[in-house]
Amino acid sequence: MITTQLQTAAYLFAGILFILSLGGLSSQESAKRGVFYGITGMFIAILSTVLGENIEGHIYILVAIAIASLIGVMVARKVEMTSMPQLVAILHSFVGLAAVLVGFGSYLEPHSSELIGSERTIHLVEVFLGVFIGAITFTGSIVAWGKLEGKIRSKPLLYPGRHTVNIILLIISIIMGVLFTMASGTEGMLFLSIMTAIALFIGVMLVMAIGGADMPVVVSMLNSYSGWAAAAAGFMLGNDLLIITGALVGSSGAILSIIMCEAMNRSFISVIFGGFGDAPVATSGVIEGEVTSTTHLEVAELLKEARRILIVPGYGMAVAKAQYPIHDMVDILKKDGKEVTFGIHPVAGRLPGHMNVLLAEANVPYDIVLEMDEVNEDMDKTDIVLVIGANDIVNPGALTDESSPIYGMPVIEVWRASKVIILKRSMAAGYAGVENPLFYKENADMLYGDAKDTVNKLLTHLRE
Ligand code: NDP
Repeated sequence: MITTQLQTAAYLFAGILFILSLGGLSSQESAKRGVFYGITGMFIAILSTVLGENIEGHIYILVAIAIASLIGVMVARKVEMTSMPQLVAILHSFVGLAAVLVGFGSYLEPHSSELIGSERTIHLVEVFLGVFIGAITFTGSIVAWGKLEGKIRSKPLLYPGRHTVNIILLIISIIMGVLFTMASGTEGMLFLSIMTAIALFIGVMLVMAIGGADMPVVVSMLNSYSGWAAAAAGFMLGNDLLIITGALVGSSGAILSIIMCEAMNRSFISVIFGGFGDAPVATSGVIEGEVTSTTHLEVAELLKEARRILIVPGYGMAVAKAQYPIHDMVDILKKDGKEVTFGIHPVAGRLPGHMNVLLAEANVPYDIVLEMDEVNEDMDKTDIVLVIGANDIVNPGALTDESSPIYGMPVIEVWRASKVIILKRSMAAGYAGVENPLFYKENADMLYGDAKDTVNKLLTHLRE
């Protein structure tokens, strides 16, 4: 058991480690260090909480933590990189559920009804808000998990008058909140339960209304909600560290959501209220040109002749796990004196930073991994672009076709290079479900097949 003073000191130390962790995660070079700070901070936080004087039944809690940690390690080891967003989404739902349970628990706790005057009102507001945010995060994250896992259709579910319904539900929740804070003892249970049911429903409808192309923002938004839910739980439990951690997660998630909205040229408010991605599935205009395909040998020859090569990876690279042979291919090309760079779109793949993580995993040097704006600047001087398993992020329709659900999203303008080779298995659409006029461009050729097999075949030819 540790004293309250020692616990406060440990919390402060853990808080600093969390801030250092966020700082570390801001760049690829320091990301590992950031993760290490985060793990250490969390370890200190959990241990100093569980061993605190005000906690009873340490042994049960420690056993529960040991079992949960084991499950966590097993799940994390098993999960494929392509399923990471789903895992993140479902973990957010746990935070939401925890906030709801903490809210009910702290309302029913005998000590809670002993509070009087403004102290009681403040406590009840904390409980009410914590449960409200937690319940929305809980069901919203489950729906996000379902959409990312393909168990729920990604098309937005919209019905007439849904904004009015949402506003009415919000007003009813506020009325429940007022009645809840006015009720004595635990008589407010009914109002709290009604609001919880409403918040659970709002969570479902909020994410159901969001279209496929806006899912990245939803995931980071739910991350933010889970932070606020944790902060609310911190207020209810009077735990300063939980407030700090929740606020860090809440605000960093909100900042990330805004950055992603800017990257996709979406208004944050419209994404939150949903409805994007409801446009027709195919582009409305007739796409001119015809699709041409090429062979591995031809592409290998083009690569041998090229001086400046750009690689644009997308979700398909993650599916195929093509990052390892890509690393070997880049090595060969660089040894041959070629300038090879990677262009990363902010929403490539299925989670923020997805491509960066995969390339880092395969030991691709950070300094050749560039952002969209940097590669777009030099696109006209690029000899050949290999688009590996990417689709939406290189769709020229996003700039020109107003009927497209991804209209307005900045893309990597690969068609401005001298030659574009697209590595994918078929003519199938990407996540947003729109056709891609890039495939019909005169300077573009398709190289069909699984990305990993294709790159391996290119490697064989390059080594010859
Ligand atoms: P897309 O989903 O647009 O396209 C991926 C392409 O990869 C598909 O067209 C598919 O074509 C191809 N592919 C799949 N498997 C393989 C394989 N084994 N080998 C080769 N190709 C393969 O991905 P992008 O990265 O271009 O765009 C990301 C999309 O995901 C955006 O719409 C974004 O909004 C959305 N999104 C992003 C999130 C994020 O945080 N980054 C989160 C959620 C959604 P084929 O089947 O023909 O092979």
